[in-house]
Order: sequence, then C-alpha cells, then structure tokens
Amino acid sequence: MTRLIVLTTAAFLIACTAKAPVVAHEDQHAEPAPRVAPAEPQLTVETINDNLHVLFGAGGNVGVSTGSDGIVLIDDKYARNAEEILYQVEQLAGENDDLLFVINTHLHGDHSGSNPDMKEAGAMIMAHENVRTRMGTRYMNEAFRAMNEAKEEAFWPVVTFSNEASLHFNGITARAVHTPTAHTDGDSIVIFEEPNVIHMGDTLFLGMFPFVDVDSGGSLQGMIAAHDVALGLSDANTVIIPGHGPITDKAGLTDARATLQAIHDRVRVRKEAGETLQAIIEAQPLADMADLDSFIKQDGMITAAWRSMGGTLN
Ligand SMILES: [Zn+2]
Repeated sequence: MTRLIVLTTAAFLIACTAKAPVVAHEDQHAEPAPRVAPAEPQLTVETINDNLHVLFGAGGNVGVSTGSDGIVLIDDKYARNAEEILYQVEQLAGENDDLLFVINTHLHGDHSGSNPDMKEAGAMIMAHENVRTRMGTRYMNEAFRAMNEAKEEAFWPVVTFSNEASLHFNGITARAVHTPTAHTDGDSIVIFEEPNVIHMGDTLFLGMFPFVDVDSGGSLQGMIAAHDVALGLSDANTVIIPGHGPITDKAGLTDARATLQAIHDRVRVRKEAGETLQAIIEAQPLADMADLDSFIKQDGMITAAWRSMGGTLN
C-alpha cells in the first residue's frame, strides 16, 4: 500500500478538505536536520515488534506504530516530553518518519499535553468527541476540589468520533473503540488487530489503584466494562498496554478486572447496608490491597467507587 490512509469517519473528510496541499504541508514542516538526543533522557522504549513500541516515563504510556506510511502515536504525555517523544519517534521510524496521527485515549494532560507540538510536527489529533468538548470546557473537579480549566484550542483533537474509528496504515488496522463512562466519558481503547495488541489508555492502571475521574464522566462500573471489552477481544497471545504501569497480557488484565470487581462489591455491600462514606473509609475494606496504593490511596479509591454508585461527597 502506498501512502493511502483510509479513515472511517465523516469528520476526517471534513478535516481533509480543510488541509493544505500535501506539497506545501511537507515544505512547511521540512526537517532537514535530525533531532538532537536529549541531554537528560526521561523516556525508556520497550519494543513489542519491529513496528510497534511503547514509550515509558512520567505520564501515560505512549504507543508508537511505525512503517512505510509513517507514524501513528497513541497519546503524547506532557508538553515537557514533546521534544524527546519526537526524537525517539525519529529513531524508531525507519523508512518514513512522517507523523500522521496522534490518538488521544482521553483528555487528561499526561496523555495529551504534547498535542500542540505534535500538530506542529504534522500530526492530526483524533479522539472521542467528548475529549474535544471537555478540553474546551471549564468545570469543577470535586475529587480534587479544583477547577478543570478549559485548554487552548491548540490542544483540541481535530478528528472526532462517537463510537469507533478505524485507521488503515502501515499494512495494519488500528481501531479506536469508545468505552463509555469508564476512566472518563471520552475514553477509547485502541486495538491493533493484526499484531494483536491493545492500548487500554487509562481504562487500565496495572498494579495500582486506578484514578476514576467521576467529575469527567467516569465510573468504576464503566472501568470494569472497558476491561470486559478488551478481554473479549483478547487471546493468550494478546499484548496489553495499560495507560499506566507495565505491559501485560490477558491474564494480567483478568486479574486487574477481578480487583476492580472486588473493590466495587465491598463498597456496594456497605453502601447498601446504609453506611456513610466516612464509615466505609474508616472500616478500611481495602486494607488487604495496600500494595496497590498509588497517587490514589484506599480512601480515594473507596470514594470513587462510592460516587460511581451515585453517592455524594456531603
Ligand atoms: Zn487519565
């Protein structure tokens, strides 16, 4: 296949008609000199196969797909990582280092913070439509008692979809599938069908309590449902990339799902028995899971489960 990219969303057609001619586009973004290696590298690379890699480091895990058509990224960490991401991508790219797309798995800044830099480097940003809507909206985050400020338009995805979009490039198909009401209300998991790899975004935090962003439309039940979607598409050979934590497989995802279900059920039983949120926290029903403490501790996990079931904070 030559540089033919087929994308099954109407939005893409609209975006294409607004795009500058290819020649002018490439001249504008010509990169005659190679990018310079970072003086203090912050990222590490793990290779899944010759054409699929993961960048680890602070922020969400970045999927890097390479091949003759160019580069597609899943997420792009923080703005401070942009230069190093672009450097690493150039190292990994091989025959074609054109940056085609970045799929944001959701709106959080540790997954979309480099969007303006990636656009500058030639990428189209695509995501579920709620990502674009929330990026342009100022709203309260009750969990952190802080405002989520609207982001500048430079961060917003330019291609959006409601349920699913497919990218056909580098001889493979990548499907971005919306998982409703999960980590947020705008999550997608990305399924690379032929290489049998799934990037879960933040619907999966491996080996740690997940952040369930209820204030951005997420729920613990939706997180579990997202696990089920991925499990239904997995076999014993599937490589699972979490949003945070190390690469795993179907067995690891199965364990993570069981943990979420246990958290859900323990909180639900107490809530249905009439206990208050404070009483449940004091009872420490997740004490045996203390090794999962992350930036979300047991009390934060209980609170997220409580709110996912309709409980209020006051
Ligand atoms: Zn997130």
